[in-house]
Amino acid sequence: MAGVPRETSCILSALLLSFHELGGSLARIIAVANQKGGVGKTTTAVNLAACLATSEQETLLVDCDSQANATAAIGFAKDPSRRTLYHTLILNEPFDRIVQKSQVDRLDVVPADKNLAGAAVELVSAENREYKLKTILNEIQARYKFIVLDCPPALDLLTLNALVAANAVLVPIQCEYLALEGVSELLDTLMRIRRTLNPGLEIEGILLTMFDERTTLSRQVATDLRSFFGTQVFQSVISRNVRLAEAPSFGKPIILYDIHSKGAEGYTQLAQEVIANAEKRTGTGARSAHSGA
Ligand code: ATP
Ligand code: MG
Repeated sequence: MAGVPRETSCILSALLLSFHELGGSLARIIAVANQKGGVGKTTTAVNLAACLATSEQETLLVDCDSQANATAAIGFAKDPSRRTLYHTLILNEPFDRIVQKSQVDRLDVVPADKNLAGAAVELVSAENREYKLKTILNEIQARYKFIVLDCPPALDLLTLNALVAANAVLVPIQCEYLALEGVSELLDTLMRIRRTLNPGLEIEGILLTMFDERTTLSRQVATDLRSFFGTQVFQSVISRNVRLAEAPSFGKPIILYDIHSKGAEGYTQLAQEVIANAEKRTGTGARSAHSGA
């Protein structure tokens, strides 16, 4: 806990320990990141979050991108008066004034707006600038099972805040020519963050997106990525599916827009994989805490 006095850090650790002993659990915070643009980060963050919530996991989706695509895709029309991540990150407004219920049961959202573009700059001179989001999320981590962070297509201070706050990073990679371009830079950044700001940062998984089984290129890229990254690649694969591209303009996650689509199938499977991994990790069963299953 860098930046926190040692005694406070010990007390916090002891509190967390007793919280766990009492059967409580803290949300797993997953940052969806890849500095390459248009690879399916937002589509993944929104639909994974929605599928986790419909699997009875209390989930929070945080839009960390000034493009605010996740905010729109989950159903919030543009509204300049809406409070966003900017207000809590920069203006220190309480989280409870920022968070919104979404149209999906058990899914809350922290929206973004274009002011966040300024936040990346305004944070530069802030004290503990890399820990701002972590501090905010730590306070509400016990309310959720999963917190999904949609990152911008840059390795900027907002992405850095997300990677410092996260337990794990999920990297969507588009199944196309030069798929690995930029990935080594991202992996270098992850290693550096592990050495310095967040030693516990794990790789949740690498997700193949926009896969088209009819093309040799897509199949070849998928094979290459699996031989390169091995078991770090999710079994679930997201197909190229026009329904996934249409859903955001209706402000709906895919499971509400077209539950029978290939896209809905892919993200439902991904959510099951993420839940199963969490259950394996904690040994308790993320699902059982809420459903009694
Ligand atoms: P940015 O880097 O700009 O934030 P991103 O990585 O968040 O982009 P998305 O916005 O999720 O990427 O996807 C880019 C475009 O591709 C969007 O128009 C989206 O609707 C579309 N898209 C994403 N995934 C799929 C898919 N599996 N099939 C078809 N279209 C998709
Ligand atoms: Mg995006």
